[in-house]
Amino acid sequence: MTYDVIIIGAGPGGIFSAYELVKKNPMLKVAVFEAGHALNKRKCPIDGDKIKTCIGCKSCSIMSGFGGAGAFSDGKYNITNDFGGTLYEYIGKKHALELMRYVDDINMQYGGEGTKLYSTSGSKFKKLCVQNDLHLLDASVRHLGTDINYIVLENMYAYLKEKVTFFFDTPVETLSIVDGGYKITCQNGEYTCKYCVVSVGRSGSKWMESICRDLDIEVNSNRVDIGVRVELPAEVFSHLTDELYESKIVYRTSKYGDKVRTFCMNPKGAVVNENTNGIITVNGHSYEDPAKQTENTNFALLVAKHFSEPFRDSNGYAESIARLSNMLGGGVILQRFGDLIRGQRSTPNRIEESFVTPTLNATPGDLSLVLPKRILDGIIEMIYALDEIAPGTANDDTLLYGVEVKFYNMEVSVDKNLQTKYDGLYVIGDGSGITHSLSHASASGVYVARKITE
Ligand SMILES: Cc1cc2nc3c(=O)[nH]c(=O)nc-3n(C[C@H](O)[C@H](O)[C@H](O)COP(=O)(O)OP(=O)(O)OC[C@H]3O[C@@H](n4cnc5c(N)ncnc54)[C@H](O)[C@@H]3O)c2cc1C
Repeated sequence: MTYDVIIIGAGPGGIFSAYELVKKNPMLKVAVFEAGHALNKRKCPIDGDKIKTCIGCKSCSIMSGFGGAGAFSDGKYNITNDFGGTLYEYIGKKHALELMRYVDDINMQYGGEGTKLYSTSGSKFKKLCVQNDLHLLDASVRHLGTDINYIVLENMYAYLKEKVTFFFDTPVETLSIVDGGYKITCQNGEYTCKYCVVSVGRSGSKWMESICRDLDIEVNSNRVDIGVRVELPAEVFSHLTDELYESKIVYRTSKYGDKVRTFCMNPKGAVVNENTNGIITVNGHSYEDPAKQTENTNFALLVAKHFSEPFRDSNGYAESIARLSNMLGGGVILQRFGDLIRGQRSTPNRIEESFVTPTLNATPGDLSLVLPKRILDGIIEMIYALDEIAPGTANDDTLLYGVEVKFYNMEVSVDKNLQTKYDGLYVIGDGSGITHSLSHASASGVYVARKITE
């Protein structure tokens, strides 16, 4: 089978790439190959009853399938260059913001209309934060919520399936260069194309690495973020979340000078497991529908770790820490802040007696046996700093789930068109290491589609 364009991966990067390609040129023959299931077949087996923790499915429905890692996410589209990726370094700040706004417009057309766009602009919290040595980053954030995000994806799939050929449950095994383009092989056969857009996200990081090795494409990697997910009563952060929804706050620790930041804030949300290449870590999301909301707010506290030569395997370092938590807890470990400070493990009894009810079934334990001292010290310092602007953050019953890891894919060497050294081979989205968010990944998809149709 021969196509004009083959897209590998149906996450936001791949979807927006396909959307823009057929919109700009309806005559193009486009195929999308996706390792995971179609949207309506994606179901995580954890039901909190019979199956309480991650059973390591062959294809993780949280991370893979139509919609990619974003399908059951909170659907927070941050329109900013301050975080979420470094797309602007390739295409310029103005253009990056324009593309993110374009993506927002499409989301509104496909079911997101009526959802709220929050903004830090003119917020009184900037002053409050800086008075406490905390730094609030600038952003506009569209919160679709997990429920509306799903509807947008359903509508986009309904539109795309008439114009694009989708292959689900079809992981691409190899990618090679042939006369006039590229060839991919899957279990069900071989396919060729003139242009190939690789958008395999975080779950495809190992595969991406092997392709870069095979095709001798340069990669670079030296960063990983490690930390915990914090869960507390929604009232503690409601003054911030009501106005901003999500606040990205950065703090520099006095002890080590490390940067700690809040990440992925989910007001009245739920904490969930995340399975990356068989390692169970933690994440969170929340619904737009009040009926599905919880009494808790959760967010990650992450410490950025940059390594210098000769160490290169930053993801391997974080994987080892996550593996340790899996070894001790059989999955994610849960500890009350008070227990951590007193140097005692949390027990099922202590969690039961806590005033905060966990939204994820995790193993009560001791995070100080898992997290390196430097990282744990940073998190504790940040919790006390946040307590100044959101009193109650440092309460005994504040729950900490560990570990949360933000793996950064190695940065694939591409030019300002997001094209590799091979003509017509593009790498976009989180799989490129350039983006780390829904909005940046989607924007990168639109960008390469326009380059191809030009
Ligand atoms: C629980 C959760 C909540 C999140 N919440 C937010 C949020 O609120 N806001 C935000 O900005 N970001 C959020 N994120 C991150 C966000 O989902 C990602 O940044 C975004 O999905 C990246 O898009 P992508 O298209 O680059 O990659 P992905 O969404 O990861 O999609 C890549 C796709 O490629 C497929 N694939 C991989 N390898 C192959 C292969 N060899 N062959 C075929 N297919 C392959 C995968 O199955 C996957 O479906 C969240 C992530 C998770 C897990």
